[in-house]
Amino acid sequence: MQIVLDLVDDGYVDISTRRDERRSKGLNQLQIEEPSQYFDFISEYVDSISETLRPVNLKIHDNPELNYEEFIAHETLTKFMRTRKGWKVTPSAYGIATAFIAEYDSGKKGPVISFNAEYDALKGIGHSCGHNLIATCSLAGALACGEAMTKFSLPGKIILYGTPAEEGGGGKIKLLEAGAYSDHKVDINLISHPGKVADCALMSTNAYVSFKVEYFGKEAHAAAAPWEGINALDALITAYNALSVLRQQTMPGDIIQGHITDGGAAPNIIHAYAAGIFVTRALSKQRLKVLRKKVNKCFEAGAEATGAKLKITEIMGYDDHVPNRALCKVSRQVMNALGSDIPSPEMDIIRGATQASTDQGNISYAMPSVSLGFKIDSVEGPHNPGFAAAARTKEAHIAALRAGKALAVTGLEALTDEKLLKAAKEEFKNMLKGSEMEQL
Ligand SMILES: [Zn+2]
Ligand SMILES: [Zn+2]
Repeated sequence: MQIVLDLVDDGYVDISTRRDERRSKGLNQLQIEEPSQYFDFISEYVDSISETLRPVNLKIHDNPELNYEEFIAHETLTKFMRTRKGWKVTPSAYGIATAFIAEYDSGKKGPVISFNAEYDALKGIGHSCGHNLIATCSLAGALACGEAMTKFSLPGKIILYGTPAEEGGGGKIKLLEAGAYSDHKVDINLISHPGKVADCALMSTNAYVSFKVEYFGKEAHAAAAPWEGINALDALITAYNALSVLRQQTMPGDIIQGHITDGGAAPNIIHAYAAGIFVTRALSKQRLKVLRKKVNKCFEAGAEATGAKLKITEIMGYDDHVPNRALCKVSRQVMNALGSDIPSPEMDIIRGATQASTDQGNISYAMPSVSLGFKIDSVEGPHNPGFAAAARTKEAHIAALRAGKALAVTGLEALTDEKLLKAAKEEFKNMLKGSEMEQL
């Protein structure tokens, strides 16, 4: 901790600390010192269904499917949920073929606790992001909450959302926009993600946006009459170089990526068309807007310098993930009670900061969200075939179930502890306010 403070004092502000400072407005001081009364029940119950969940986990893992084509995973999960007593399953929810909703309703009015399950894979490298484990974790968490609801006669509702296409398709955004969460008056949302680094409760991710850039020029003979042409590739190269110059003066956490997809037809023709795909990322969606303006200026510079016409088409964007501290505190306690060593929030937020992006970020701007990071034994990190192999092991299955226990207890505490739910919502509101202020 001292090292971090020293670094800050010296002006080398750690990006995580910066993000933490911004979000700590509204930090609640809620103390939950006693182990949850649901801990033992949940732990034993999840252990008891471990072998039942294992084939579901493996079926998803061994049949990797891409964005919105997760038909086997969808079929496996909905079929399985239909076998569980008390669960009402809606396959292909909200017109999305591979999304689903499974509900467990106590019949008594109360909070609505939700889990998101991911199950998409990556092209050519299978489940190298370990989403089979995310599905397993959320399945375990939701089932355990439902079981506890009956056992302890609790009010409210548990919902498991099947959320496809996290790897670039934004399934959760589609569900959000379709009203899948607001229609069910969801109070909080819980998810997890495996990694090769230590467990963390306060996982935060970057905001990101991808877009296509095109320049339209005019052909001409590149030797005989080049002055008659307008060189679209020159426009793109000018913009690319301007971006390289901009990179020196971006803020920590700002990222600019890009590649050229079209660089002209032939060397003896002035290039009439050039295009590329670009990505910008930043610590928050508000910061991303600022960065994006600067980036757009670079593309405009290319057009200005050459006379080529510029066209920018948005492709995709995810918000940053803002973890809810009130809820994460419970998750941290449970993980640590199960043998983990997640440190205090000050260190946890640093450990949990990643520059990757996820559509769970958009969820975190719609309701209090937890994305619990859990370690699996892997030399390689996510998006590497080595990680896919690690995500198949029995040990990884057990790690996912441990995270599932933590999410289940977090959900049950939010369901039954009014003070906790109120604190989580208060913090969420303050975070939104802080985010709006940042925009001004
Ligand atoms: Zn991924
Ligand atoms: Zn992932």
